[in-house]
Amino acid sequence: MPTKALLFAAEIGHSARRGATWGVQAENVGFNFPQVMARKDAMVKDFADYRQEQLASGKFKFIRANARFRDAHTLALSTGETLTAKNFVISTGSIVSAPPLPFLKDLNYITSDEALALTSLPKSLIILGGGSVAVEFAQFFARLDVKVTLIQRSAQVMNDFDTDAAVELEKVFRREGVNVFTGTKITSASRQSGRKQISFQHGPESVTVEAEEVLFALGRSPNTASLDLDKAGVKTENGRVVTNDEMRTSAAHIFAAGDCTATHDIVHIAVLQGEAAAHNITQPQKSRRMDYRLMTVIAFTDPQIARAGLTEKAARAQKIPYLSAKHLFADHGKSLIMEAREGFVKLLANPATGEIIGGGCAGPLGGELIHEIIAAMHKRMTVAELAAMPHYHPTLAEIWTYPAEELAEKIRG
Ligand SMILES: Cc1cc2nc3c(=O)[nH]c(=O)nc-3n(C[C@H](O)[C@H](O)[C@H](O)COP(=O)(O)OP(=O)(O)OC[C@H]3O[C@@H](n4cnc5c(N)ncnc54)[C@H](O)[C@@H]3O)c2cc1C
Repeated sequence: MPTKALLFAAEIGHSARRGATWGVQAENVGFNFPQVMARKDAMVKDFADYRQEQLASGKFKFIRANARFRDAHTLALSTGETLTAKNFVISTGSIVSAPPLPFLKDLNYITSDEALALTSLPKSLIILGGGSVAVEFAQFFARLDVKVTLIQRSAQVMNDFDTDAAVELEKVFRREGVNVFTGTKITSASRQSGRKQISFQHGPESVTVEAEEVLFALGRSPNTASLDLDKAGVKTENGRVVTNDEMRTSAAHIFAAGDCTATHDIVHIAVLQGEAAAHNITQPQKSRRMDYRLMTVIAFTDPQIARAGLTEKAARAQKIPYLSAKHLFADHGKSLIMEAREGFVKLLANPATGEIIGGGCAGPLGGELIHEIIAAMHKRMTVAELAAMPHYHPTLAEIWTYPAEELAEKIRG
């Protein structure tokens, strides 16, 4: 919610600056950073207050304390109390990972937590990483006129997406002035009179970049170190709580859900895992298992990039046969109205049955559009069924009918 609120503010400003495209006169558009942050804080507070009310509603007992296991059925709380229970669900989330290179420690970098609490903007910023957190902050700061350099180790940003989606994002980033380096290997880092420097290998070149601040976005790790899980007989692997697909840990009465299991680090997955754990505790005779067939990932950049089910990369890696078809937003009515010509939608289908097995979108409101594919996949629809489904014109959503028709024809033919 906080990062998305900031990105929305950045997008409003960006659209205003492009107002002339639609004949809108908006001169000297700028950002009032304290107001941008204050609006985000107010929105988060409203949201959190509501959640807190729900917790305090009396439906269950809410204790505010840090817990650690004393034995398999007992928790020691930071309040000094002791708590015993028949069952437990561990959901202690994640923390920012330790820097993979020891010399980064001396940089005194900021993480997403500090970035969300800044009171003034740095003039320049180096972002380490190329996942969702990195790309979302990169675009936010760049659109607020911070000179942003993004350094990613892998060959593309958003490494678990197909390359075509990452290419769209990198293209827009470069056009908006973000200095994007992919396929890098960081070699050293230093801090001198308020400036921070990072040196890295980029292909055959040795590059050094410098900025006022560095944002560390190289990943998060399960927050389990202080839980004394061994005392409860709960097995971990590199800090993550190991569970089966019922979200049961190695101690049969203890379950885990969310980032502490390091499965996906996504809110709705944490919620689904928590619900599965609760279900399996209360109704063990009707076991509920996690199924990641509809796995969805979204980066709320502009263009938004989103995927559901299989990517082409994953299908190839798992040797799953597929047919794919794409349609470009540059060739679509509603996106032309919006002057949002970047990107595409893509469908993957089972070549024998036509069942939709994956969808990808890099484009306007991609995070919303992907939900049509989640719904279709949830109901195991075929491309022919999706193509036959009525779509209003002109909408962004009707773009799915083009790759669906193309694949339906191929599979029929
Ligand atoms: C910058 C950023 C942007 C993100 N954007 C998105 C997004 O757009 N969409 C999305 O799906 N996901 C996003 N995520 C990931 C998402 O926030 C996490 O996947 C989600 O919060 C995980 O939920 P959780 O319940 O496992 O952990 P958390 O939400 O981290 O909750 C863990 C809770 O456990 C408490 N706790 C920890 N240790 C103890 C202890 N010993 N005793 C008692 N309590 C304890 C903590 O205080 C905390 O309240 C983002 C993450 C970051 C950092």
